[in-house]
Amino acid sequence: MPQVDKEERKLYNKQYYQKRKMCEHGRRKDRCKECGGVGICEHDRQKYRCVDCGGKGICEHNKRKERCKECGGNEISKKDDKNIVQEGSF
Ligand SMILES: [Zn+2]
Ligand SMILES: [Zn+2]
Ligand SMILES: [Zn+2]
Repeated sequence: MPQVDKEERKLYNKQYYQKRKMCEHGRRKDRCKECGGVGICEHDRQKYRCVDCGGKGICEHNKRKERCKECGGNEISKKDDKNIVQEGSF
């Protein structure tokens, strides 16, 4: 039985995770705070959606852009359209 010392085993693990595009913490590297992932801010959130960081996904109304009525968020306007159609068919 070949002896594998700890260092070699570590290396093997690293290669294994790199193959799966994950860091050694079992997360995606760009989302792992411990690996300095760019996607995570100091508030443990996705930077893009962090209000405190003024992420690009947050509008001037401190809401998620895609859900902000004043910014013409898609989700809401779609729902409104549906309502209008339903009212008309009645
Ligand atoms: Zn990590
Ligand atoms: Zn933040
Ligand atoms: Zn807005």
